[in-house]
Amino acid sequence: MYLKKIEIYGFKSFADKIELEFDEGVTAVVGPNGSGKSNIADAVRWVLGEQSAKNLRGSKMEDVIFAGTEKRKPLGYAEVSLVIDNSLGELPIEYNEVRITRRVFRSGESEFYINKSLCRLKDIHQLFMDTGLGKEGYSIVGQGKIDEILSASSEDRRYIFEEAAGIVKYKARKIEAEKK
Ligand code: ATP
Ligand code: MG
Repeated sequence: MYLKKIEIYGFKSFADKIELEFDEGVTAVVGPNGSGKSNIADAVRWVLGEQSAKNLRGSKMEDVIFAGTEKRKPLGYAEVSLVIDNSLGELPIEYNEVRITRRVFRSGESEFYINKSLCRLKDIHQLFMDTGLGKEGYSIVGQGKIDEILSASSEDRRYIFEEAAGIVKYKARKIEAEKK
């Protein structure tokens, strides 16, 4: 499983639609200060379900929508898609390629899609559970994350190991079953 492509429209500094294609292996994003490198990482975390504006370096969710410049009007919505290679079937879905999309409007309303079908945020969480992807996944290591892991409570640290071991989905199902 690897990230094949990111499509960004109206997210933060990306007013025009852009497509970034990745190959397997290492990709480095380079550019001057303020050119949008971190905005790309924010876009990935946002599609995967990040709900905290603060974690996206804003104060409210609307801040992820292109706010306009002197020469350009603000946009009404932001949309980001990730295309993930699933030819080894690591994601529990019968497609070799999985497209995850999130759209947000100025009203704050978010829509999520898996392969262009409208879904709930919960479906996105379930799809990525135990894969290391997802907003709590260990595959995204942000600034300060290493320190956070080292100084986390033993319970929080345990969660990281459980996700890596692939047992989070069973625990989630157990909790869900106990509720019924
Ligand atoms: P550095 O090397 O300093 O870390 P960077 O390449 O990571 O820089 P980013 O933080 O990704 O840069 O981009 C910051 C830019 O994004 C700023 O110029 C900021 O004005 C712009 N930006 C952030 N949110 C929006 C928005 N909603 N609308 C328009 N521009 C935005
Ligand atoms: Mg940065």
